[in-house]
Amino acid sequence: MVTRLVKPSMPPSLRSSVMKAPVIDLSSCILCEICCELVPDVFRINEAGYVEVISLDDYPQVEVDDAIKACPGDCIYWDDI
Ligand code: SF4
Repeated sequence: MVTRLVKPSMPPSLRSSVMKAPVIDLSSCILCEICCELVPDVFRINEAGYVEVISLDDYPQVEVDDAIKACPGDCIYWDDI
């Protein structure tokens, strides 16, 4: 008897429900603070003087996408959480 292992794929209806969070590549960040000004509920300057992403259960997609587009260092991106 031959058994084939089939890798289950995620149904399309669930793909959009994967949680994502913005991530900052600090090596490219020039600390212009545009992201903090655009989306202060998501981005802030921490005590060490670096930009950080505030831990949230959910992130506003449109606002974070705006910050991604506006970031001159091209250092904000979405990642699965
Ligand atoms: S907009 Fe980009 S370069 Fe400017 S502080 Fe935010 S992450 Fe850094």
